[in-house]
Amino acid sequence: MPRTKKPVDLPTDPLDAMLARLKLGGIRDQLDSLLDEAARSNLSTRETLIMLCEREIARKDHRRIEMALKLAHFPAVKDLASFDFEAQPSIDPKQIRDLAASRWIANGENVLLLGPPGVGKTHLAIALGREAILAGYSVQFTTAMTLVAGLAKAHAEKRLDDKLLGFSKAKLLIVDELGYLPLEPDAAHLFFQLVSRRYETGAMLITSNRSVAEWGTVFADPVVATAILDRLLHHSHVLTIRGDSYRLRAKRKSGLIKAPLAGDGAAVGSASLRPVTGGQGPARP
Ligand code: ADP
Ligand code: MG
Repeated sequence: MPRTKKPVDLPTDPLDAMLARLKLGGIRDQLDSLLDEAARSNLSTRETLIMLCEREIARKDHRRIEMALKLAHFPAVKDLASFDFEAQPSIDPKQIRDLAASRWIANGENVLLLGPPGVGKTHLAIALGREAILAGYSVQFTTAMTLVAGLAKAHAEKRLDDKLLGFSKAKLLIVDELGYLPLEPDAAHLFFQLVSRRYETGAMLITSNRSVAEWGTVFADPVVATAILDRLLHHSHVLTIRGDSYRLRAKRKSGLIKAPLAGDGAAVGSASLRPVTGGQGPARP
């Protein structure tokens, strides 16, 4: 059946038509008001062109960012401005600001955010992902569980290569919550393939409540875990966050909960978590 074409609103004015063809929608939509503004401000032709180009670029940037934020699939809206550094003295704000400049992404390096539940790992992961998008990089956010489930399904359906390619496209891949549940040995191999594929070309940010010393247990295979860590840590920034859950802080203050909770911070924050890294160590030893 022939497809019925949607009627398009064809421009009749030649300038309008040319702006549409050049995809200069920002100028096209506001042409009259922009020209009025230029006349009121007595702008020269050159200054007017600069203003028009600036508006077009601002609109394109805005749209790109909106689209990239959608494609990233962040689970919540978080940014660095809303992160309370005073509440989290184990994090060096300067190190986070350095990472927010996104050079590590350009270099295909990795960031590991380690720490007990509720200390702001996911918040910082999203905030750094957002900064990366503002800097022009593509970002994909996923959880370790979703990632390995997707890879295992693709493997079973004999389309693992396509899936690995899918997870290799974004310049930054964020993998949240590694270690909350132990992974199957098969999952460890699949994760290893992903890490190898991205090694030195695409940056990864991984959050975990487990110290790297415990990743052998997380992956249920110490040999594959070592191979994964070998690649991840080669060019890496390991940040260890310590302290109490931010979520429960207010409740504790009000006396609803007696501090600290059992299990809160049990996994990470001990002396076992010395970074095995060629990059920066934790903010404070
Ligand atoms: P984690 O991923 O380490 O378990 P989250 O990042 O999910 O912790 O933090 C739990 C909640 O507390 C989130 O709503 C987060 O925005 C908030 N939060 C944690 N730490 C801070 C902080 N230092 N400043 C502001 N909000 C914080
Ligand atoms: Mg989290």
